[in-house]
Amino acid sequence: MGARHTYREVAWACGICGHRARVWTWDHQYPPDCPSCLFPLTKVLPAADRAATVIGDACDVVVEHGLCWPGGAPRRYTSKSEMAREAWKRGLTNYVRHVPLPGTDRSPHTVSWDTGPAPGADPRPMAWLSPEEQAARAAQWHRDE
Ligand SMILES: [Zn+2]
Repeated sequence: MGARHTYREVAWACGICGHRARVWTWDHQYPPDCPSCLFPLTKVLPAADRAATVIGDACDVVVEHGLCWPGGAPRRYTSKSEMAREAWKRGLTNYVRHVPLPGTDRSPHTVSWDTGPAPGADPRPMAWLSPEEQAARAAQWHRDE
């Protein structure tokens, strides 16, 4: 195995306010947030054909939720493919998928970057919320599951 990741300069644009930025980004990293409206930026086009850096499968992370040990104890991973195998075994996927509600093409959890967030929706990522707001959002996710 040996998934490799690349670090490239990427052109990003905000689908909400039109802000543009070139940011060096890992290919497995989530899009950076727009500095003015905090919405995730959209990739415009690869700015370079060649990767400046190639890295291997090594990592050193302690996972406290999701891929932790059964029973909830934090689990340390030193290989990304080991993490991917464990996620695969448990049926977990490390990306956001649009799962519409029955009979609609809409989901309360995913947002079209063409049209922006629905009226009343809070587009801020989890990390920007206060602990109380994070708890409320997590509770909402579990209610809708
Ligand atoms: Zn913006």
